[in-house]
Amino acid sequence: MKKYNFNAGPSMLPREVIENTAKQILDFNGSGLSLMEISHRAKDFQPVVDETVALIKELLDIPEGYSVIFLGGGASLQFMQIPANFLIKKAGYVNTGTWAKKAMKEAKHFGETIEVASSADDNYCHLPKDFTIPADLDYLHITTNNTIFGTELRKDIDSPVPLIADMSSDILSRPVDVSKYDAIYAGCQKNMGMAGVTCVILKNDKLGRAPRELPTMIDYNTHVSKGSMFNTPPVVPIYSVLETMRWVKAHGGVKEMDKRAQERARIVYDEIDRNKLFKGTVAVEDRSVMNLCFVMNEEYKDLEKPFLDFATERGMVGIKGHRSVGGFRASCYNAQTLEGVNALVQCMKDFEAQH
Ligand code: PLP
Repeated sequence: MKKYNFNAGPSMLPREVIENTAKQILDFNGSGLSLMEISHRAKDFQPVVDETVALIKELLDIPEGYSVIFLGGGASLQFMQIPANFLIKKAGYVNTGTWAKKAMKEAKHFGETIEVASSADDNYCHLPKDFTIPADLDYLHITTNNTIFGTELRKDIDSPVPLIADMSSDILSRPVDVSKYDAIYAGCQKNMGMAGVTCVILKNDKLGRAPRELPTMIDYNTHVSKGSMFNTPPVVPIYSVLETMRWVKAHGGVKEMDKRAQERARIVYDEIDRNKLFKGTVAVEDRSVMNLCFVMNEEYKDLEKPFLDFATERGMVGIKGHRSVGGFRASCYNAQTLEGVNALVQCMKDFEAQH
């Protein structure tokens, strides 16, 4: 049976990304060695890193003066690496959910950290509105897409202080004005490729200001100056990012990704709003187009498990909601297809017809 992958991450990737990466795993550039076996210093691998960086810069229209690096440790390591490198006296965080909170917790190891705004009181079902950003912050940290709660800030805000963003779950799904940010980071395992590598975009002239001795591996300058080759980089995951970037480019770039994401989300949200069994969990204006969260309406709560079973039998994978929201979450990253969302919607309609 055909499977439709709605996993939140690692998540669906374009088939050709998987096939092309698999080919290189079997025989890297006809060398007779696997991509898993080559030295990262091999002459054929440097072009992989160079092309990947060049494509990310091109696709996100990154201005001069920024570096793109690849690191291990996931986005979670960035929760500490960002404050280690950027927190001088005081950092501000917008608390929009689990990941934002985790980022804020790590910053506290490095200095004063304040919560500038929060929607915790409403179980993060909307983004905080109308808050003032204190002018004395070293930076303001935001999470542009809240993977668990399904809210998304789909614009680049104006900030009087340097802006830093965790874009793990929506990078490359829309055009971004990178010049508004001093740093952007993303675990690659959603819109950029497979798990095992994190992409960090840094404004060069903001580096090296931390008032503390940084361990070598934590200092961004180490990795910027060595082009992500200070130590052994995650070779296979970086290759998967290259293939994903080629795919995004071949499919029209981030403008087209944005258009497709809006269309998929409209189809699913329209059904959530129409179908008597379901309701969305997020304020309409803050709904994510990457992670679409919904629950059973009160009077149909008993049907939650039966719907999950019904959908699973029809090939839907990964639609169970995170335990902090319950219900369902359909993650629709760049590789998600119209066929996939239409299959989910048909499933919702057919289940409604039975009840
Ligand atoms: N930030 C966001 C928005 C995420 O969705 C995730 C993981 O899903 C993380 C951070 C943590 O990423 P990692 O598992 O790469 O540490």
